[in-house]
Amino acid sequence: MAKKYNFGAGPSILPPQVINATAEACKDFQGIGLSLMEISHRSKDFQAVMDQAQALFKEILNIPEGYSVLFLGGGASLQFCMVPYNLLEKKAAYLNTGVWAKKALKEAKLFGEVVEVASSAEQNYTYIPKDYTVPADADYFHITTNNTIYGTEIRKDLDSPVPLVADMSSDIFSRPIDVSKYALIYGGAQKNLSMAGVTFVIVRDDILGKVTRPIPTMLDYRTHIDKGSMFNTPPVVPIYCALQTLLWIKEKGGVGEMEKLAQKRAAILYEEIDRNKLFKGTAAAEDRSLMNICFVMNDEYKELESEFLQFAGAKGMVGIKGHRSVGGFRASCYNAMPVEGVEALVACMKEFEAQH
Ligand SMILES: *Cc1c(COP(=O)(O)O)cnc(C)c1O
Repeated sequence: MAKKYNFGAGPSILPPQVINATAEACKDFQGIGLSLMEISHRSKDFQAVMDQAQALFKEILNIPEGYSVLFLGGGASLQFCMVPYNLLEKKAAYLNTGVWAKKALKEAKLFGEVVEVASSAEQNYTYIPKDYTVPADADYFHITTNNTIYGTEIRKDLDSPVPLVADMSSDIFSRPIDVSKYALIYGGAQKNLSMAGVTFVIVRDDILGKVTRPIPTMLDYRTHIDKGSMFNTPPVVPIYCALQTLLWIKEKGGVGEMEKLAQKRAAILYEEIDRNKLFKGTAAAEDRSLMNICFVMNDEYKELESEFLQFAGAKGMVGIKGHRSVGGFRASCYNAMPVEGVEALVACMKEFEAQH
């Protein structure tokens, strides 16, 4: 059987050593004769996991003083609600760059006035709008740094006149970020950090406590900050898995190294997409994501789409079918994707081209 490469968009590829260490801990946690799944989250054994995960998160992303790191439930989707619940008093600004951005925007409307500063919906989200003005009186400005479905990405830290909030579900830890430019960063862990079940939040403590509405206890960031992300039982296995990924990132040289690898993988694959007569990319060249690489068959080869999916699938390329709103193919190249995986996909594309 061909070696399999997992190009799935999420839940997605994890380094083998992360999977092994997590599986091992589920059987016998650090040799104590109990499973990670059955020990108390209040035990000193698990407290050490939580402490180390938060400390490494801060170390690897170089998070300044004054920020807290939380591991919560509910996915990035619950953050679409928690962000405005905690931060939106009157007005918020949103950049509409895709389905996830739109979902976040829709939720914010439940809490106050929402200004959509710009949108690329009219061109099926194939680019990132750049000419827009963020109202100076907005409580915050929300962006989605990587548009997982459409394969576009904001790969620099924007300057914002108001507190900047970012959904980084699918590109966190793929490059160094200047956290001081953000008031809050969140994301589901299942794209580039861990298995499904945990959501990370990096929040600058001083932006909280400014809204006048009462906030339910579990939805108030301050509850979780006060209790060190242990107000209630946290998702212990996904947090342990995240810790293993953080250890792996550090061992590999940190986010600078992750970025180099991401650039290398993306360069190899986009070059082939642009060269190969059968395929074409869907995202505007300057906004192409390094994480989710979207491409379709060129018009004259449209009918070969399902044949290529089958062909590549038989050669071990898993999860490359594009999202239904873009069609074609999407190769998600998160941190754990080895360069050989992308080279194997490129070899498939070349071989398929030779047959047609
Ligand atoms: C996957 C994804 C989400 C949704 O995450 P859940 O954890 O499933 O709620 C939100 N935003 C982006 C950018 C995503 O890629």
